[in-house]
Amino acid sequence: MQKSDFFEKVLKIMEKGYICDNCLGRQFAQLLSGLENKERGRAIRDFFAFLLEAGEELELDSSNFFSYKFRFSGLKGEKGKCVVCGDLFEGLDFYAKKAVEKLSGLEFSNFLVGTKLSGSLVRKEEDLWENVGIEWCEPMKSEVNRLVGKELEKESGKSVEFNNPEILIILNMKKKDVEICVNSLYIYGEYNKLVRTIPQTRWPSGKYKTSVEQIVAKPVLKKTKGIGSKFHGAGREDINAKCLAWRPFVLEITGPRKRKMNLKEIRDSVKKSKKVEVRKLKFVGSDEVEKVKSMRPDKTYRTIVKTEKDLDNKALKRLSLLKGKKIYQETPTRVMHRRADKLRKRVIKDIKWKKLGKKKLEIIVRAEAGTYIKELISGDKGRTYPSISELLGTKTEVKELNVIKIHREKA
Ligand SMILES: [Zn+2]
Repeated sequence: MQKSDFFEKVLKIMEKGYICDNCLGRQFAQLLSGLENKERGRAIRDFFAFLLEAGEELELDSSNFFSYKFRFSGLKGEKGKCVVCGDLFEGLDFYAKKAVEKLSGLEFSNFLVGTKLSGSLVRKEEDLWENVGIEWCEPMKSEVNRLVGKELEKESGKSVEFNNPEILIILNMKKKDVEICVNSLYIYGEYNKLVRTIPQTRWPSGKYKTSVEQIVAKPVLKKTKGIGSKFHGAGREDINAKCLAWRPFVLEITGPRKRKMNLKEIRDSVKKSKKVEVRKLKFVGSDEVEKVKSMRPDKTYRTIVKTEKDLDNKALKRLSLLKGKKIYQETPTRVMHRRADKLRKRVIKDIKWKKLGKKKLEIIVRAEAGTYIKELISGDKGRTYPSISELLGTKTEVKELNVIKIHREKA
């Protein structure tokens, strides 16, 4: 680092008209920690004022020294507007006040400030950098964010959070306005679905009156006064299958006005539906959504099936051939209208059965995530192979289907 670099940079910056302390100091933001740019700028200006007063001949715009009382140099300057920020930093209070106004009534414990600079501010900053270099500088945005952030911390008693802020406060310099973006609230839990008549998530056509999502979200929406909900499940079961194993999910509430609530009350309130139960509710960050969605646990199903022909023991024994076998499933005819036609390969990890009648069978099967169980049983007109129907040598249909275990550990 050369001493002259610093000196020449200051000369270059101050020869072109008035520059405020913030903008001057920001070019040297990485020099000396524990100072704000405004203090850096002031110190540099003082030093150059001394030089001028002592008789140094420097090419500096006199407006930069309007506030000094020179005894010997005879220098007189008039204050202008900062050539870089247009005195933006003098007016930052306006944004802090506006933010406080717009935050009233919102419950939050942390926030983050972001700034959209106007095109002309961006250009002026770029001009400065082109002229002086960027060796020690800090971007204008980052200074604005920090200063307004600090001010808001003082005003609101809440703290700035970089990773997972509940509230995003955008200072829009072009519109001279503040935009508040309320980030979603995320609650992790695990659910049981006790009835065969509801889907996991809201059905677009309104075909089903309610869903696991709606039942779980209802009490939370009431508490949070949120705009809406999204339900992220670790897979899903058939509409007419019960889920008697605890399936992980993350409930996302968009635009919550309140964030605090007693999750035990939520759990109890869900239980009253008699359709769904939840447990292990806890507040989590948005990253939990990906974690839950990317879970690929094996599942064990208990299913009751009916066959067309009477069952014989020889045929039943053939079912053991499925254990550890890979099966092939083309997209089931029942979901063809909404899913792409693809071939899936899934492994059947275990299978057990019990004869309940001449044409009635209980089957307990553990399969990889994403196995179409109904089709494993019926064969779906040959689109799934091998299938239970094929091995039994008779048309076989599911009468009852329950998820009884979701395996977190790998088999
Ligand atoms: Zn400035």
